[in-house]
Amino acid sequence: MYDGDFAVRWMAAVAVAVDREAGRLTELDSAIGDADHGANLRRGFTAVAEALAKEPPATPGGVLAAAGRRLISTVGGASGPLYGTLLRRAGKELGEEPAVDREGLARALAAGVAAVGRLGGAVVGDKTMLDALTPAVAALSESFAAARSAAEEGARATVPLRARKGRASYLGERSIGHQDPGATSSALLFAALEEVAEA
Ligand code: ADP
Ligand code: MG
Ligand code: MG
Repeated sequence: MYDGDFAVRWMAAVAVAVDREAGRLTELDSAIGDADHGANLRRGFTAVAEALAKEPPATPGGVLAAAGRRLISTVGGASGPLYGTLLRRAGKELGEEPAVDREGLARALAAGVAAVGRLGGAVVGDKTMLDALTPAVAALSESFAAARSAAEEGARATVPLRARKGRASYLGERSIGHQDPGATSSALLFAALEEVAEA
């Protein structure tokens, strides 16, 4: 079972991964966006980790909801409200349960991903974070490793796609041949989840 402390460790691991990979995320965003994805997420998840270390909510739902709110308030780019919605909605879905199993986490994150789709109007294949998030949450009912690997596969699969949402869509055909930054950071979320779950 996964409790509030587990959720805090997950968010802290995401902050570490985003900090380590910020250069690569920004590089990807410089090819098809405005070169700020690494900086956006570094600012956001650093603030999340700090807030959770100071005042950790007791339940996993409370932790994810607090993390989502913090992302929305600290990240100006598209990814702030989108990741914020993912975590806030997942947190709301978990409710007040003191601990959840992997199935419960998968269901809650699936609700979060659906909310991201409604907010941004994107579907799988539009070359966005949804291309990694959607297969990852589906595979999470199998295992943490399957979710991580599905997210990585989904992120790689954005390379040949033409972007239909977000800044990259302004490039039209020229967005083809580049990996989507948001799908790449989504894979980091699931790598961090596997890491803390197996620790
Ligand atoms: P901005 O584009 O505002 O600078 P970021 O660079 O932080 O924001 O994030 C860009 C990422 O956000 C994209 O790579 C893409 O994955 C994701 N994204 C952008 N628009 C949407 C959308 N409408 N739906 C889902 N994801 C989106
Ligand atoms: Mg950007
Ligand atoms: Mg921007």
